[in-house]
Amino acid sequence: MQLQPFSVNDGEGIRTNIFMAGCPLRCRWCSNPEGFTQKEVIGWYRRRCIGCGACAAVCPEGIGIEMDPDRSRCTACGACVKACPEKARVRMVTLMDADDVIREIHRHRLFYSYSGGGVTFSGGEATSQPEMLDYLSRELYDMGYSLAIESCGYFDFEPVRSSLERMDLIFMDLKHMDTGAHMEYTGVSNEKILENIRNLGTLRRPDASGEPDRDEGPEIVIRIPVIGGVNNSEENIRASAAYVHSVLPGAKMELLPYHRLGAIKYEALGMPFDQEGFYTPDAAEMERLRSIVREQGVGTADYR
Ligand code: SF4
Ligand code: SF4
Repeated sequence: MQLQPFSVNDGEGIRTNIFMAGCPLRCRWCSNPEGFTQKEVIGWYRRRCIGCGACAAVCPEGIGIEMDPDRSRCTACGACVKACPEKARVRMVTLMDADDVIREIHRHRLFYSYSGGGVTFSGGEATSQPEMLDYLSRELYDMGYSLAIESCGYFDFEPVRSSLERMDLIFMDLKHMDTGAHMEYTGVSNEKILENIRNLGTLRRPDASGEPDRDEGPEIVIRIPVIGGVNNSEENIRASAAYVHSVLPGAKMELLPYHRLGAIKYEALGMPFDQEGFYTPDAAEMERLRSIVREQGVGTADYR
């Protein structure tokens, strides 16, 4: 898990993002590869490193400065992180106690209340830790925090229904309407995701007595990360919007242009960065695709 305070991209106001590690998808454009698994992870940022050797000197596993090829022996003990004078060795995923997370969030509560912000569960994939999500969302909801979640959409719905019903705002991804293309680029079929987008319409926020309110569900935004060369065809965007309109008439959609900001993390983790052929659609193309969404009767949102 990682906490990112003072985020302004994933919900209203100033927010703390809780990145919960573990994800069932392997999107080839992912910018948070440290969250693929739930293991603690240490990274090495070559550009910050001055080659002093303090990390290698303290490593009980005999791992050298560059970590590779011995990275698999790393136990994430953290000795090198403490020893490094340049913050070139960093913890990229950390085990955290749920109550410590709540205490940390509580430290920033004034920023949330002045800005209309709150807490956003993110990933990795927040639903991949359903018990933790349930505990944190219940405690924070009871304390009155505004809650949001962003999800890849690939999860078993009923075990996380209660957590989702505590949210003010749900972002869910829809990466491709074509099942084969979805499988090719993310490693999983889109069928469960399409079903879960439909299921979002059945959510009801708790009323004052804690019972589901008959009329009010969370606000829903279906997000498309628009990857040039993958899912940016007008046909795909039109089909996505038409589907959202048919199953979630009140939902909005947000189209986010592809970026390569995660490249440096792949380097820090010693993972291959293979995003050849993907490109960022320019502003004019993004606006044209947003207009296609609106033509299908779906409003567009912009949280970035
Ligand atoms: S975290 Fe521990 S085991 Fe891993 S490289 Fe650093 S010192 Fe070695
Ligand atoms: S301690 Fe930090 S700066 Fe020194 S060699 Fe290791 S990673 Fe580089």
